[in-house]
Amino acid sequence: MKNIVLFGPPGAGKGTQAEFLKEKYQLVHISTGDVFRYNIKNNTDLGALAKSYMDKGHLVPDEVTINMLNAEVEKNPKANGFIFDGFPRTEAQAIALATLMETKNSQINAMVALEVDDEVLVGRLLERGKVSGRADDANEAVIRERIAEYYRKTDVLKEFYQKQDKYYGVDGVGSIEEITERLSNVIDKL
Ligand code: AMP
Repeated sequence: MKNIVLFGPPGAGKGTQAEFLKEKYQLVHISTGDVFRYNIKNNTDLGALAKSYMDKGHLVPDEVTINMLNAEVEKNPKANGFIFDGFPRTEAQAIALATLMETKNSQINAMVALEVDDEVLVGRLLERGKVSGRADDANEAVIRERIAEYYRKTDVLKEFYQKQDKYYGVDGVGSIEEITERLSNVIDKL
C-alpha cells in the first residue's frame, strides 16, 4: 500500500494534481473539502455544520473531520493505497491518521508538499472563484483567512513529517504537466 498526503496551502494545486496521480498510481483519492461540499449540496447535518466554518475560511473541528475521514477510508477496504488531499490539516488529524493506518497494518509513506508563494495563491484562488462556484473562493477576505488558518494550524505538519523523514517539498509553480512530473519523481522513489 502506498499512502500519500498531498499537502500545501489553499490554491497550491492539490486537487488538480490528485486527479492525475490517482489514475497514474491507482490510488483512492480522498479530499475532505470535496466530502464536505458533497454534504452541503445534499443538505446533511454534517454539511450544515461544515458550511458554518467553511464560509468563514476556518477549519471544521477536528473530531468531526477525523470521524468523517475514518468513514471514507473504511468505505474502501480493497484500496491499493490513498491520496489524502486536504487532510491532515492539524497535528491532531495527523496523529489520528497515523493511528488509522496502523489499524490497516499500513502507514503514511510520504507527505508531498506543493510550495507556492502566498500572493500567487491569492491570485489563483480569485481566478478559480470566477468559475468554481465555491463561496470560499469568491471573497478575498475569506481567501486570506484560509491562508492565515493554514499558517496557524497546518504549516506545523511540515515539521511533523520531516521528523519522520517523510517530507518532500515540490515547486508548485509551472504547468500542470511539469508539476505532475515533479510529484511523480518523488512518488516513484517511495
Ligand atoms: P479545501 O477544498 O481542501 O480547500 O477545503 C475547503 C474547506 O473545507 C476548508 O477551508 C475547511 O473549512 C474545510 N476542510 C477541508 N478539509 C479540512 C480538514 N482536514 N480539517 C478541517 N477543515 C477542513
